Amino acid sequence: MVIAIDGPSGVGKSTVARAVADALGIPYLDTGAYYRLATLVALRHGVADHPPGILAALDEVVVDFADGQLLLDGDDVSFQLRSPEVTASVSRVAADPAVRTAVVDMQRRWVADHGGRAVVEGRDIGTVVFPEAPVKVFLTADAETRARRRSGDTEAAGKTLQTLITEMAARDAADSSRQVSPLRPADDALTIDTSSLTVAEVVGRILDAVGTI
Ligand code: C5P
Repeated sequence: MVIAIDGPSGVGKSTVARAVADALGIPYLDTGAYYRLATLVALRHGVADHPPGILAALDEVVVDFADGQLLLDGDDVSFQLRSPEVTASVSRVAADPAVRTAVVDMQRRWVADHGGRAVVEGRDIGTVVFPEAPVKVFLTADAETRARRRSGDTEAAGKTLQTLITEMAARDAADSSRQVSPLRPADDALTIDTSSLTVAEVVGRILDAVGTI
């Protein structure tokens, strides 16, 4: 059983998805980390604007996701995935259809390798990657709340709240307006505005939804 959790950045997806996975005793997959990985590899090879080069570079690496960390050829690259350079380029790389096909394939394989049971968080999980998931959740929050939540993260170091709000708005616009798999709730998703909810309250609502299936 897949539990799909989608939404924009800074909404608390990772924290909530991890907690739901822990409560259910099933693994958790951060799909954004895969697009960040594709971007890191592309930047290292100087091919961020050349999708065939990105695909060729991805073909040469071994990628795994274990205990919440993304491993590139066995090395934990979680820190590098949050660099400002990767964050600034990831939406561009993630907008390419061929890159998405390759990355979605890796994500589906990971879930299959883990027995088909996982909490999977991203932008297009309920709409494209696992449209048959029995529980689909779309998290939202107002811009200032999201920027405040993001301000504790590595990638936000040294940035003002206003800068974070502006950058997040740009990434949202790119993610929501792209041709392939835009960020949007699935028709049958449970949308939760988390602006004034605690993590425990959001997790509780999702577990309630899981309990009804
Ligand atoms: O969740 P995170 O902020 O790490 O995602 C980084 C970027 O990866 C997003 O801004 C989006 O462009 C892309 N992404 C995506 N589809 C997903 C997850 C992330 O396009 N399922």
